[in-house]
Parts: sequence; structure tokens; C-alpha cells
Amino acid sequence: MARIERVEILQIDLAPKVRRTDAIQSFVTQETPIVRLHTADGLVGTGYTYTIGTGGSSVVALLRDHLAPRLVGADASHVEALWRRLFFHTHSTAVGAITSLALAAIDTALWDLRCLAAGLPLWVMAGGAQQRVPIYTTEGGWLHLPVDALVADALAARASGFRGAKIKVGKPTAAEDVARIAAVRTAVGDAFNVMLDANQGFPLSEAIRRARLYTPFDPYWFEEPLPAEDIDGHVRLAGATTIPIAVGESLYSPAHFREYLQRRACSVVQVDVARIGGITPWLKVAHLAETFNVMVCPHFLMELHASLCAAVPNAAWVEYIPQLDDVTASRLVVDDGYAVAPDAPGLGIEWDWQAIEARRKFAPIVVR
Ligand code: MG
Repeated sequence: MARIERVEILQIDLAPKVRRTDAIQSFVTQETPIVRLHTADGLVGTGYTYTIGTGGSSVVALLRDHLAPRLVGADASHVEALWRRLFFHTHSTAVGAITSLALAAIDTALWDLRCLAAGLPLWVMAGGAQQRVPIYTTEGGWLHLPVDALVADALAARASGFRGAKIKVGKPTAAEDVARIAAVRTAVGDAFNVMLDANQGFPLSEAIRRARLYTPFDPYWFEEPLPAEDIDGHVRLAGATTIPIAVGESLYSPAHFREYLQRRACSVVQVDVARIGGITPWLKVAHLAETFNVMVCPHFLMELHASLCAAVPNAAWVEYIPQLDDVTASRLVVDDGYAVAPDAPGLGIEWDWQAIEARRKFAPIVVR
């Protein structure tokens, strides 16, 4: 493939479609840095990353000052070499969220180029395991919603074909959580999947206590029960409950997943393609999980994860949270409760450049 001639960096901010709250935070705005790689043979690869409201300007500065200049002149097809070179160039700030998020914007652009050059969609280029993957929704399960809204949203999701819905937990008392979960379970019946997500909100003792109280309602998984850095806590919780433990949205390196998997500290892996540093490390985590017979159910970013889940055999669920509709012409196809990976060459995201132009935070930064 051709040399990278110039790198363009943009940022847009996208408002959530609904109010999103959980046990520890609010999703204020999706800061969305975008990287465009222009090659000598005229191809343009577009990648992106995100934050939920803070750190976007730091990601852009890292891209502008340290990463993009090292891409100019490089062969865009040497994806592993480029990822590694950039990672080690910033080694004193890695592993870390800002570095991984910045690497993801570049890596997804490199994969877009790789797919465009081959004329293949991402789901095929990255593995081609299964074009359709079940999808569950999180948009009706936020922590501030009253019980009747939770129930109405879960019933609406089931009626429109979803096979599962996620409910945030972490109310001040366990009784409040239990009342919410019970109401949803009673309404949707036994066959519908109900996921729970604590967003790292509990200490170990409380996570063990709440897991016991949640168990009669047969949750499909208990997501981020504890702070992500507490692997030992996860080991002890996994041994104390029959609910599968899900982690991954707050891990930033494949090696962190290896530690969780080796210690049997989780049984669902939720690797996030932006927070892990791009498609290149995402695939490593997915394949690593496969060797442990553990399912991959990635966090957020359904516009990319529908294709990545379709690429690997052990992906079980795509999470439904639409976020790019204001700046894309393409829409994720959901058919009978399954996300269908797009067949268009590239990442499968058709950007609306006029809409992006109207929203960008600053004039495009061009590095050449
Ligand atoms: Mg979560």
C-alpha cells in the first residue's frame, strides 16, 4: 500500500440522544477526535475515538504533537509496526487512557485504509466469523430513570426485537436496586436477558451482598461491580456468586485482560475498541478470550463493534447505544434482534462530511 502523505485531525462533540447516568458519572457529551490518513495513491482512511466528556483536547494534542508527525511517509499497510512504533514513542505515558484513545483514532484509520485497499468490509477483513450478532440495549436502563420508565423501556425493547436490556445498578440501598430489577424481570418474563451494570460503584463487601440479592432475578451478567484495578476483588467476587462477571470498558491494555482471564476474575470480556487502542489490540483481546472460552461483548461504539463482533467467533452481544447518527448517513442494521455487520468496504461508517464540517471544534489540523 502507499505511503501516508498527510494526516488530518478534527474533533466534533456529539450530544447523547437520551440522558445517561450511572453509579459514578454522567455521559455529558461524546468528544469525538477524528483522524484522516491521506495516502499517495489517493485513498483516505478515516478513524475516530471518543471520550464521554473530558480529555478530548489532550487526545488531540497527543495526536498533533507526537503521533501524527511519525506517520507521515510511513507505509500504511504496516499496521502492527506502526502501532508498536507509536506506542513505544509515547512509552512514558503508556499504558494509559489518553494514549490508548489517541492510538485508536490512528489504528481505526489504518484499518479503514486496509479494508478500502482490499475492497472488503471490516467484518471480513478482520476475520469473517459471523455476520449477525445478537444485540441488547442500554438506552432504557439509566440509573436516574424511575421504575415505570425502566419497565416501559424494557418492554418496548423486547417488542422491537431486542433479546436483552441492561439496567444500571448502584442505588443508595440494595432494596431500591432489587425493586427495579424485580419489576423489569416480572414484566419481561424469564426468556429475556437482563444485564446489570454497577460502573465500578461498589466495594467488594457490598458487591458480594448485592450479587446475592440480585441472583433470584437471573441476571445475564454483573458488569463492573468493582473498581477495575481491583483484580483480586473480582477473583473473590467471582468465587462468591453464580452471576457471570463482566469487565473491560475500563481496561486499556491487552495484558490487563490477560491478568483477568488467567485469574478467572471475569467471564465476559467487554473490550472497547477506542479505550484499548484500536482494532489491532481489540482483536488480540478477543482472540485471547477465545482461548479461555470466554465471550466478548464489547462496550459501546456499536458502529464499529458490530463489525468487530462479526469478525470473531466468540463475540456474543453488541451493545445498542446509537451515537453517530448526527454525522453519518449509514445506520446500523438491526434485524430480528441481531446486529448485521455492514458489507460496504472499509469500516462500514458512511460519514456525512457536511455535518462534520458544521460541528467541528477547530479548523482541521494538517500534519504533512
Ligand atoms: Mg458499563
